[in-house]
Amino acid sequence: MERTARDSKNGVFLRKEIRIEGAVQGVGFRPFVYRQALLHGIGGWVLNDSRGVLIEAEGAEAALLKFIRALREELPPLASITGLEIREIELAGEDGFRIKESREGLPPTAQIAADSHVCPECLAELFDSGDRRYRYPFINCTNCGPRYSLVTGIPYDRPKTTMASFVMCPACRREYDDPASRRFHAQPIACPDCGPTLSLCDAAGKKVTGDAVETAVDLLRQGHILAVKGLGGYHLAVDAANDGAVEELRRRKARDEKPFALMAADLSKIAEFAYFDDREAALLTSVERPIVLLRKREANSLAPPIAPRNHYFGVMLPYTPLHYLLLDNELTALVMTSGNLSEEPIAYIDADAGERLAGIADFFLTHNRPIFIRTDDSIVRLTAGRPLLLRRSRGYAPRPVFLPRPQKEVLAVGAELKNAVCLTSGRQAVLSQHIGDLKNAEVFSSFEETIEHLQKILQVRPRIIVHDLHPDYYSTAYVRRRDDLTAIPVQHHHAHLASCLAENGIEEEAIGVIFDGIGYGEDGRIWGGEFLVGNARGYRRAGHFRYAPMPGGDAATREPFRMALSYLFQAFEGDPPYLPFLRDIPESTLALLRRMMDKGINSPLTSSCGRLFDAVAALIGLRHRVSYEGQAALELEMAIAGKKESGTYPYELMDRDGLIIFDPSALVRGIAAEVVAGVSGGVISARFHNTLAVMVGAVCTELRRRTGLNLAVLSGGVFQNRYLAEHVVGTLRAKEFNVLTHSRVPPNDGGLALGQAWIAGHQFG
Ligand code: ZN
Ligand code: ZN
Ligand code: FE
Repeated sequence: MERTARDSKNGVFLRKEIRIEGAVQGVGFRPFVYRQALLHGIGGWVLNDSRGVLIEAEGAEAALLKFIRALREELPPLASITGLEIREIELAGEDGFRIKESREGLPPTAQIAADSHVCPECLAELFDSGDRRYRYPFINCTNCGPRYSLVTGIPYDRPKTTMASFVMCPACRREYDDPASRRFHAQPIACPDCGPTLSLCDAAGKKVTGDAVETAVDLLRQGHILAVKGLGGYHLAVDAANDGAVEELRRRKARDEKPFALMAADLSKIAEFAYFDDREAALLTSVERPIVLLRKREANSLAPPIAPRNHYFGVMLPYTPLHYLLLDNELTALVMTSGNLSEEPIAYIDADAGERLAGIADFFLTHNRPIFIRTDDSIVRLTAGRPLLLRRSRGYAPRPVFLPRPQKEVLAVGAELKNAVCLTSGRQAVLSQHIGDLKNAEVFSSFEETIEHLQKILQVRPRIIVHDLHPDYYSTAYVRRRDDLTAIPVQHHHAHLASCLAENGIEEEAIGVIFDGIGYGEDGRIWGGEFLVGNARGYRRAGHFRYAPMPGGDAATREPFRMALSYLFQAFEGDPPYLPFLRDIPESTLALLRRMMDKGINSPLTSSCGRLFDAVAALIGLRHRVSYEGQAALELEMAIAGKKESGTYPYELMDRDGLIIFDPSALVRGIAAEVVAGVSGGVISARFHNTLAVMVGAVCTELRRRTGLNLAVLSGGVFQNRYLAEHVVGTLRAKEFNVLTHSRVPPNDGGLALGQAWIAGHQFG
């Protein structure tokens, strides 16, 4: 039907070109536009192109307004809009609405979405006995389901996923081809007739008969340990209320004390064993479905060995259809810990899982949809009112961080522990999933595979590779082997500073408060309690914690009492008082460590903030040895008794050639005196934290006076500590600083590669 510019019945007819940018591809955006167009009687078309989604829409003025409002306000769950431009164009007289073929190669970053939680509509079908996917564990649609973990290449299309070998049945094919269907172009579409299937085997690989899910639930109730194949890898599952089963899992996993994550059916179940507020509930129920750290209820029915010496549980809600089926029973919660032995990466390939987990799991609940990229569960903790990612992985990767402006393509390889890599393309910086500790050979392979895979799916081949200054990191060794690329070293704490600036989109100079474990310094010493001034363009060291020897080097990281001795000797000039923790350390060890420090043998100097936390944990008798990284610092935070304690210790700041030096000696003497006086560890810990916050306030105020900068940036692994982060933020805000913290990438080394990449981008402006 021909239309004229005016239609007396429906008002003025117009045609608009609507250009939408953001996360709008591979998330069901075109079918959404199509449905809205039908709903509002709009003619025209929609297509994906290199910038996002392009629409031409024609209709009555009022209908167009409603259509555009719906585009903005009723987005599909995985979509988000960063830009929407509208301009009027000439009428074409189109009545119907079409989804047009894509014009050209699409930018890969827009194509590969993160893995998502199963959506409410799919869930309703899962539990609808009349639905053809009733209780089908692989139900998904364009609004939900696996993405990053099953993409093998681009373009994001069924043949380039691990679903390639499954041939769609006619019913699935109809939905896949129907623009009005929620499964239009849902690449992992499947049903019981054509899709993957579950199977349950014992540890010897022998199939267990009966309904796989029902039998698995029975086995869990009986206290068995099950390996359960998930979205990005295998979990080990046991009934969280069964002390014996949890204890046995700990023993078989060779994991002494690191907390196990929990999964519970819904918020009301979680409320039985943990506290949460509205913001934490929002995190739990977000499509990313991370593990959220929640304060334990004092009285709860769960097994004590789940999270020993810890006031928090790591809790998540189910995120795959299989999880919902497993938790559809009266179990309070399941332990769902990653399927690996301590230190190894999570198992994700079936044969490998069968082998590696055979000594741990009694049974395997598995399936034949391959996982292409291993992704661990992400971990978040609400800090200073905002979500703070402690581990960024499933649900978040490979979502890009948008840099303030485009830069040259760069590959940044991160540090060593908690490794993640970063690739940039234009304005987008894609931080990989959490990879792990590169010292483990299998993790290192995963590191190499992730680099290759990301380059492939993002279609970038950077000529520039960025690495940490540390000469002995495995990531640095990798860069040395890549002599086809231009290598750029970046100082560890400068990268932390830049990482926080990058995720906040800030280019200007700032005062960086970088409290960290250890990082290689420009002077060859081990830095980690640093005040830097700079931005991605460059930095200078403006202050740091006074150097202290680490007797035995790395051994001092595993044995916090060594750092306690180091700080004690420094604070009391070699003549410390007798403290109870010394009782447990053999006289000969004490003498040896003392000699090492006196003579400077195997006692590298460090300004690490993390090591000071270790020392204080040992001083108050909390812990002499740790079984995982950061344990002493974590337990020191956990020891804080209530939030009421506001006391502090004296501390000293010195100026040495323009560098501000924080000397913890007075602080350590204060703590020692209170330990002798019998003050509780909880009170001492609070006062220690308070002192650091006050000290940061004083140093930043002095640096503001010297530099005129009013912007303070908090980064480094120590800022995973909620009490410290909140007190430092509070102190600085009270002094009217602008404070930037992390939210979308971790403050620990998991976020480092983002800063490295951004710094290198500036060197090749
Ligand atoms: Zn869905
Ligand atoms: Zn089917
Ligand atoms: Fe670090």
